[in-house]
Amino acid sequence: MSAYSELVQKLVKELSRLPGIGPRSAERIMFYLLKSNGQQVKQLSDLLVQVKEKVFFCEKCYNLSEGKVCHICRDETRDHCLICVVEEPKDVISLEKSGGYKGVYHVLLGALSPLSGVGPKELKIKELEEKIKRQNVTEVIIATNFNTDGETTALYIEKVLKPYGVKLSRIARGIPTGSNLEYVDRDTLAYAIAGRQEII
Ligand SMILES: [Zn+2]
Repeated sequence: MSAYSELVQKLVKELSRLPGIGPRSAERIMFYLLKSNGQQVKQLSDLLVQVKEKVFFCEKCYNLSEGKVCHICRDETRDHCLICVVEEPKDVISLEKSGGYKGVYHVLLGALSPLSGVGPKELKIKELEEKIKRQNVTEVIIATNFNTDGETTALYIEKVLKPYGVKLSRIARGIPTGSNLEYVDRDTLAYAIAGRQEII
């Protein structure tokens, strides 16, 4: 590392701060960038700046949005009394592709993970609770992943929302235990939404 120039070291350091990128991958990316032509690298850097300037988390559901409110929350034809709770914006994409859902979403922006230090305050759980308090919500479908963190999160949400008497359901099994929604095929997801079970 120390043999690199200061500028290169700085780049490697910044890259290795990205999630899932260790120092070795950061070095590999640095070499890739150096070998790419100037035009490609410029496009990438412009895109990063543009995304940061133009893409936000929807102020209603925390999905990714190129405006204050996302296209799903703006859609009047959807059922705004039905809220599907997911971990990440990519889960919204998976569920939308399944075509089996016409309500709106609430994206938690993560899952509870005591081991990684992610508690309720790090997620948009309070915001979900506020929504249930203030809006006319008839049903909340919990569609967190079927792994330990996802199940922990589902149980926690159930505990928080139960006092409000709102109907709570969990998307149906049939989704293999341990799986992330993004890898589940669209028919299974459509089935899971349609066959959701009320949490009593
Ligand atoms: Zn939204």
